[in-house]
Amino acid sequence: MSAAAAPKVYGWCPGALRPMMSGDGLVVRVRAPLGRLSVAQARGVARLSQEYGNGLLDISARANLQMRGIREEAHEELIAGLRGLGLIDPDPRAEARRNVILAPFWQEGGDTRAIASELSAALTAATDLSLPGKFGFAVDCGETPVLQDTAADIRIERAGGQLVLRADGAETGKAVTRESAAEEALSLARWFVETGGVTDGRGRMKLHLAKGIALPAGHTAPRAIASFTAKPGIVSAGRLAALEFGQMPAATLAQLADHGEIRLTPWRMLLVEGPKDLPPLPGLILDATDPRLQVVACTGAPGCLQALSSTRSLARELAPFIPAGTRLHVSGCTKGCACPRTAPLTLTATGQNEFSLIRNGTAADQPLKTRLSADALRAAPELLREGS
Ligand code: SF4
Repeated sequence: MSAAAAPKVYGWCPGALRPMMSGDGLVVRVRAPLGRLSVAQARGVARLSQEYGNGLLDISARANLQMRGIREEAHEELIAGLRGLGLIDPDPRAEARRNVILAPFWQEGGDTRAIASELSAALTAATDLSLPGKFGFAVDCGETPVLQDTAADIRIERAGGQLVLRADGAETGKAVTRESAAEEALSLARWFVETGGVTDGRGRMKLHLAKGIALPAGHTAPRAIASFTAKPGIVSAGRLAALEFGQMPAATLAQLADHGEIRLTPWRMLLVEGPKDLPPLPGLILDATDPRLQVVACTGAPGCLQALSSTRSLARELAPFIPAGTRLHVSGCTKGCACPRTAPLTLTATGQNEFSLIRNGTAADQPLKTRLSADALRAAPELLREGS
């Protein structure tokens, strides 16, 4: 790979107080408390996005809302507006620490919401705790875990009828109660730091354990193993709606707020509480058989400064040709932001409208074919399957 093609790795995630510059302006990531927007918050974010940004909103793989195209000079006013909506942490370090994702199907009075709430408050208050920017917690206490494919370093799950605190990468965890879970999670985070899990501000639990570091005593409870695939449709808490490429116009968020409070999910979907159906709105995918659910594509050019090509128009056009049960990832560079894991098919841009094809790999893996033009792929989508 040429130096020009090497993507920049930041090792931290943008927040609202610590935004990141992109090709279309600042990216301001809003970490909504407990992954939920009230009707007023959703309408307010939509208005601020239109006023200070380009009116586009992303939902991240950690269920955060990203406001795109924010003008640099408007950042301060935007933060004041978000603070007024109750969506801003006391400072950037507290914002970074409160990296808690909860299973979107939580119920009022249930363990998931109660523990996530206590853990969020404890992390905000833990001013002496310095965790890597990407270090996160998953609170997933429904009957069956739904977040095991979502990145997290410390998990609280239900297994065999009891709550289990588990370090990501470990096959066993520690039995906890609703009352002790948040405190035990914080202790495990402190253990991670004290046992050398952080180097130059970076570190992940799974990599730490892979070095052979032994867990603290008591982590002997068996874990739950579950696989979950979210699909648009009706669920007990409301209606799941997918977003095309995880993005929607701000106007769509404002209109969704007319139907109920909104939960953010890590699956590029929103859960609108209450209603059993939603109207078709720009950016929404409501049908579980929509072929666009089989493609993922990062921002690409011109929105990302590192992109070597646009990505989403090609992904949209190829979607109907992707065989059922297969997934296509179109990436603007080898960083593979939209799908860090392996995908059955990946097209990685190597130049403007030029791609390499990788099978069963990541965007950075060895390609099966190179120098495929976007036009050639559009004209003959079977190129994706040849050689399989
Ligand atoms: S993968 Fe896409 S969004 Fe990520 S840095 Fe590369 S071009 Fe940008």
